[in-house]
Formats: sequence, structure tokens, C-alpha cells
Amino acid sequence: MSTGGTLRIAVVGGGVGGLAAAWEAKHEIVRRGMDAEVLVLEARERVGGSILTERVEGCLVEGGPDCFVTDKPWGMDLMEEVGLGPHLASTNDARRKTYVLWKGRVHPLPDGLILLVPTRVMPFVTSSLFSWPGKLRMAFDLVLPRKCDGSDETLGDFIRRRLGHEALDKLGEPLVAGIHSGDPETMSIKATFPRFVDMECEQRSLIVAMLRRMRAARKARAAAVRSGSSGRPTRPRTMFATLDGGLGMFTTALARRIGETAIHTGDPVVAVRRGDGAGWVLRTESGAEHGVDGLILATPAYASAGILAGVSPALAAELEAIPYVSSATVTLAFRAAEFPREPDGFGLVVPKAENRRIKAFTWVTSKFFDRAPEDIVLLRCFIRSADGETETMAEEEMVARAREELRSILGVDAEPLWARAYRWNRAMPQYVVGHLDRVARIDALLTEVPGIVLAGGAYRGSGIPDTVRVSREQARGLVEQLAATGGPVAADSVSRREPSA
Ligand SMILES: Cc1cc2nc3c(=O)[nH]c(=O)nc-3n(C[C@H](O)[C@H](O)[C@H](O)COP(=O)(O)OP(=O)(O)OC[C@H]3O[C@@H](n4cnc5c(N)ncnc54)[C@H](O)[C@@H]3O)c2cc1C
Repeated sequence: MSTGGTLRIAVVGGGVGGLAAAWEAKHEIVRRGMDAEVLVLEARERVGGSILTERVEGCLVEGGPDCFVTDKPWGMDLMEEVGLGPHLASTNDARRKTYVLWKGRVHPLPDGLILLVPTRVMPFVTSSLFSWPGKLRMAFDLVLPRKCDGSDETLGDFIRRRLGHEALDKLGEPLVAGIHSGDPETMSIKATFPRFVDMECEQRSLIVAMLRRMRAARKARAAAVRSGSSGRPTRPRTMFATLDGGLGMFTTALARRIGETAIHTGDPVVAVRRGDGAGWVLRTESGAEHGVDGLILATPAYASAGILAGVSPALAAELEAIPYVSSATVTLAFRAAEFPREPDGFGLVVPKAENRRIKAFTWVTSKFFDRAPEDIVLLRCFIRSADGETETMAEEEMVARAREELRSILGVDAEPLWARAYRWNRAMPQYVVGHLDRVARIDALLTEVPGIVLAGGAYRGSGIPDTVRVSREQARGLVEQLAATGGPVAADSVSRREPSA
């Protein structure tokens, strides 16, 4: 039994998923009146995983995610719980315009386009982005029959079937490449955009379903205002939100609240084996061993596969089969006076068909408030990583690519004041067709290793809000499981064995 009847849980991976799981596990144990020791084991020297905020010469730079969707509340809920409510910040929606590069020209996305679905007639009809046959084909969605047989299909097939190939090439592909770094020809519609599947199933037409959703949301907002309960005052009302000091505030606050001493960084977990009685023993690269009652793996699926290979080869094989892609971002700072004209939108997406070496630009100082001094323009670029080429690309080469494309697409020739490049190797899980069946098989195999759960963004929703939701659910589930099977059992003898060298 672990020290003094204390339940020991290790969370492997200190990204937002792991930290959210550790937070939840700690609180769930306390809620049940038990003693808890929750340990976070992170491979890198810092926590945060894909979330990385830096200050560079008075500017706030996001290396990874820069915002999150607000219609999924789970990220904001936890931000408020850790005291960051007053730091929640809206995007600058007076400038919420996105552009698409098509045949070398920059076109605005028509107003009223929600995700891929047009909800306003005039902006759509007058849009320069779509051809007349393309517009007509999208409008066919209003009359096409529904498909509601529960089968999965690729996002590409779904969009082509409902809205036509122009919607896929000019909207679906670049937006999805921007959000998931994904390929719509392999991604599962059921796993990535289940909302669309429900909309077609319930309402037949995506356009009708989106209009009804918007009407319902408007009514709910109006009712809340009438009843005086118009939501929490600190919550942004924009579609996307962030934290005023960058998203790194979130993982830093979580780590602080979990307790810095409970977080071990710079030592990857390499393996797990069964404890002598019950529980599990983790081994790290430095040779340290930790005996625990419960284990939350919040590592990328391929890393979890390596850790679990010794206890369940079948589970490891399923985890290893979840594909990942790489991505890279470059942030450039310019003197505003040298920038040809002030950016007037959130950014520009670049469809694959344009054969460019970037996927998107974000105009940081236009999209967000207070990211840089007044006389600085910040611009962020997503480098296209064909076949993972950014994994080994020199940072200078990434910066050079961003600058070349900026010059060629937007005519920006100015010398940047500084540039920062961030490489994200195998950082984005891809939910390909069949992903949910794989997750079901993983769940079944997990029953053979009681006391181990999987958290993070690899399984049931990626992006910050879903990662937080899933990770908290998994942590609660683990504590429930451990409480039901009699509480702490991990061997004292290995619970704190230090590395031999
Ligand atoms: C460039 C980029 C931009 C993004 N933009 C957005 C956005 O704007 N909005 C949004 O909502 N989402 C965005 N995302 C997605 C979002 O960042 C992720 O969904 C989320 O951060 C995933 O968190 P996680 O904890 O599951 O994984 P990660 O952040 O990948 O954390 C996993 C952790 O496990 C650690 N680890 C790996 N192996 C081991 C080991 N053997 N032992 C110990 N630790 C290990 C890693 O070092 C890492 O810290 C973006 C992602 C990227 C890469």
C-alpha cells in the first residue's frame, strides 16, 4: 500500500491535456475524501506541450495555438477555475475577415460563412471567390437528400457530396489544413466534425441546420439578457478567444496550482510494468522508477505506444497506428511604417492547389489586441510541411520561406525586425476514417490494463477545449475506477526510487 494510504497517480505528459488531467485527478480524490499524490512526468524541460508563449522585444508571440473556439466551454471553464477569468480576451472582431488565395488573387471569404456553410444570400452571391456553377452547387445542399446510415466517410467526400468540389478546394481543404494540419481526403467526418453529421442527419440540409442553430443561439442570448443572467461577465462573446497574456498563461497557472514540486520535467517516461502486488511501475530515461496506483498517459499516441509496449503489444499497435503530422510556424515583426498597408483581417488561407510553401498567414496585431507596441506589425505564417519536411528544416530556411511567400502573395518586401520559428514535429494527431472504431478497440484493450487511462488530444477531440474536456473526464474515470477497486495499493518500495547514476 502506498505511503499512509495515499492514492498515487502519475500523469505522463505535461501538455494541456496532462495538466488538466492532473488538476482533475487531484480534485476528484479530495472530493472523495481521500489523500492524493499526483505526479506529472514531462519529457521536455518545460510544461505546456504544444502551447508555448514567449515575449520577444515587447511583443507577445505564440509558437503553437493562439486562440480557441468559445462555443465549446471546457477550456474557459478550467481557465476560470485556475483564476484566469479576468484574463480571457476576445479577438478583435471588428476585423474578423479571412481571405483565401485562389489563382494567385486574394479573395475575402463572404460574410455569413460559418465554417463551410453559407448563411447569408447577398455576400455569397456577390463573392468573387466562387464561380457561378460553384455557388449553385453549394445551394444544392438545400434540396439534396440526407445520408444518415451511421457510416463514416472522408471529410473530402462529405463536402463534395453536400456542397460540391469548389467548397472543398477553396474552403474545406485550406480551413482544415489550418485547423488540423490535416488532409480532407483521409480525415474522418465523424471524428473531426461530428456536428456536420448530426446536422445532415437531423435537418438534411447543412444550410437550413446552420440557420436554425443561429436562430436558436440568438433566442437563447436574448432570453438570457431578458432574465438578467446573460452569462459570466468575463466571458468573451466572440467566436474565438484567448488569454491576454497568451495561452502559456493557462499551462503556467495550471502547473502552479498543481504544485511545481509535483511536476518532474526533462526526463521522458520510457516504460511501464505491473507492480508486484497491484498498480504500475513507471521507468524514466534516467532510470528513476515510480510506483503508482493509477496512470494517465497524456502523451502523443505513438509515445504512449512505446511506453505500453511491454504490457500490451496489441494496445501499443493500435496506438502506434494513429497518424500524426508535423507543422511549423514563423512569426515576423515589422515596423508598421514599412508595411505596405495595415492588415485589415485575421488572416489568409492558402489552398493546396495554389502550390505554395505556406498554408496560412495570421495578422496577429489585427486579430488580437495588445500583442505588440503600436508601431509594430506582427505576422504569423504556417509553413507547409509536405512529407514532414519541416521536421529537419533549419529555422533560417523556414523564415526564408515565409518571407518569400509574403513577398510574392502580399508584396511585402520589408526587412523584418526579428523572426521566430517553431517546429512542431508529429504534434498533430490525424483522425482518419475509422478513427472512432480504433478508439473503441483501444477502449476494449484498456480494460485488460486496469488503472491505466489515456488523456490528451489524440482520441476524442483535439484542440484546447476538447483536450481539456476529454482529459478531465479520463482523470475522473480513473479515480472512480481506483476508488471502486479499493484505493491505494502501489508498492512503497518503488514509489520514489531515484536513478542509480
Ligand atoms: C502549431 C499548432 C497550432 C495549434 N493551434 C491551435 C489553436 O489555435 N487552437 C486550438 O484549440 N488548438 C490548437 N492546436 C492544437 C492544440 O495545441 C492541441 O490540441 C493541444 O495542445 C494538445 O494537448 P496535449 O496535452 O494532448 O498534447 P501535447 O501538447 O502534445 O502534450 C504532450 C506532452 O507529452 C510530452 N511527452 C511526450 N512523450 C513523453 C514521454 N515519453 N514522457 C513524458 N512526456 C512525454 C510532450 O513533451 C508534451 O509536453 C495547435 C497545435 C499546434 C501544434
